[in-house]
Amino acid sequence: MRLRVGRRAHADDSPADSASNNPAERAARTERARSEMVAGQLRRRGIRDERVLEAMATTPREQFVPNVPASLAYDDRALPIDAGQTISQPYMVGRMTELLRVKPGGRVLEIGTGSGYQAAVLARLGAKVTSIERLPDLAETARAALREVGIEGVDVRVGDGSVGEPEGAPWDGIVVTAAAPAVPDALREQLAEGARLVIPVGPRFQQDLVVVERRGPNDWQEWSDGAVVFVPLVGEAGWSD
Ligand code: SAM
Repeated sequence: MRLRVGRRAHADDSPADSASNNPAERAARTERARSEMVAGQLRRRGIRDERVLEAMATTPREQFVPNVPASLAYDDRALPIDAGQTISQPYMVGRMTELLRVKPGGRVLEIGTGSGYQAAVLARLGAKVTSIERLPDLAETARAALREVGIEGVDVRVGDGSVGEPEGAPWDGIVVTAAAPAVPDALREQLAEGARLVIPVGPRFQQDLVVVERRGPNDWQEWSDGAVVFVPLVGEAGWSD
């Protein structure tokens, strides 16, 4: 099935949802899809942090993908959003969130707001999130989705996040949801001691999910959590387009 991009369709428009227009039945189907996603995609593949599982069990992903039928929102894959960008696969959102080890009240920087879904999950964990998006239209749509879902504690800004946000540093966690050619030095420097940076790093079409942990003023340990594929981080410390 080809997914339409570029038009804000309502979930109820779609053939997949026309089987029942009863709001209660639609809500029950969505609820079921969300629980199945948590059990079949997250828990089964090794996401163990119960707080992350709970946050993803209570965040309505369908509200962040208005261009696709609600019945596909919980599929095991990345989905298109506007401007040729994507919302990451649920497992990837869960894994990156788990690796960050977010604490309630922790100040987290997200680079690449996209749909706003990852930011919503972080906020559900009690983080105070600053999220930077380079495309103003996407930032605006994400703000609207976050508002609609009733998520507070996310500050969406427009700019080049490849150099981080020095103003708010040090951060208790930094997550980059687009792929960089190398770990930007500015992001290492903006980590608090004990905090982690989670970032896809490598060539355009396949990267490693790199975790950088700051263990002291001049001590950063880093390792790969495995192979991933992300859209490019475009900016001063990223790719040129
Ligand atoms: N976290 C998002 C979500 O939950 O939907 C998915 C993000 S999408 C995979 C990557 C996003 O990074 C795109 O929206 C893209 O415009 C954005 N991006 C790319 N380079 C950027 C940069 N230098 N600064 C901020 N955002 C950037």
